[in-house]
Amino acid sequence: MKVARFYAPGDIRVEEAPEPVAGPGEIKIGVRNCSTCGTDVKISRHGHHHIRPPRVMGHEIAGEVAEVGEGVSGWVAGERVQVIAAIPCGNCQECLRGRMTVCPNQESMGYHYDGGFADYMIIPAKVLAVDGVNRIPDGVGFAEASVAEPLACVLNGQELARVGEGDDVVIMGSGPIGCLHVRLARSRGAGRVFLVDINAERLEMAAALVAPDAAVHGQDVVEQVLKLTEDRGADVVITAAASGAAQEQALRMAARQGRISFFGGLPKDNPIIGCDSNLVHYRELTIVGANGSSPAHNARALGLIADGSVPVSDLITHRLPLAEVLEGIDIVSRGEAIKVTIEP
Ligand SMILES: [Zn+2]
Ligand SMILES: [Zn+2]
Repeated sequence: MKVARFYAPGDIRVEEAPEPVAGPGEIKIGVRNCSTCGTDVKISRHGHHHIRPPRVMGHEIAGEVAEVGEGVSGWVAGERVQVIAAIPCGNCQECLRGRMTVCPNQESMGYHYDGGFADYMIIPAKVLAVDGVNRIPDGVGFAEASVAEPLACVLNGQELARVGEGDDVVIMGSGPIGCLHVRLARSRGAGRVFLVDINAERLEMAAALVAPDAAVHGQDVVEQVLKLTEDRGADVVITAAASGAAQEQALRMAARQGRISFFGGLPKDNPIIGCDSNLVHYRELTIVGANGSSPAHNARALGLIADGSVPVSDLITHRLPLAEVLEGIDIVSRGEAIKVTIEP
């Protein structure tokens, strides 16, 4: 079979590999779609300290059960499934408190285990142990189902930022995650949703798809948001970009009692921002983070796609075969696509 393996930064090889066999407690799936995101770009350029090469990449996974290992019940060959990316341990103090997104023992598909850029892959027993495999509902395609994982992360972020009825919401960053944030905010009853990006072309492409109440771009985005919100600022500001400047702007455009989600992480070598603490104090701001998603978030995200609350099929702008995965990652890095999915 064919796989795309990470060997070193800048060295990802599409090559032949023996087909895996499902061991005890495992399931083997035929991958039908594995979508790409900025994380794949980051890995391809810089690697990751959790990846010991060579490693099959790909973490936004949907496929068909091909083989069920010894001792696994409840699954049969041919079933259509979506798989989590972040694997909580299920046993630590955080997991036992239901805070699986911050499990300190978290592992990931495509990092600790071979991922979905392959014809076939193994779902580890650890994934099954935490209910990390979801049946894809009828009417939902494999490509759409593969977007459940990023949508699950977006859902976690908006829960933590308490996006709700009537909120004015600003999304900074108009990539695929930004687009999902716009759609999810709408489905949660947000009032107005504004989309911000420094890349005018990408913003235009995204806005054409997800129709924010305004697309905001320029040097003075804080002033523009204040103007759009009658000087109140936004109830929720979500930064879906690896930008400290965006985080600083987010703090300045939040309404009183506003919630700011630092959804996107910052580069490891430059994670410090300027924050006017008095702004947080007097305006009673809440700053929250977001670290991936839990298995339950994945199941609910799939439900949101299935019942039409958050449509995703039109966000998938590129479908490429596995042999062209490097081109796919390149397209993502150039910001030319909303969502690129690989179809092994
Ligand atoms: Zn991803
Ligand atoms: Zn844990």
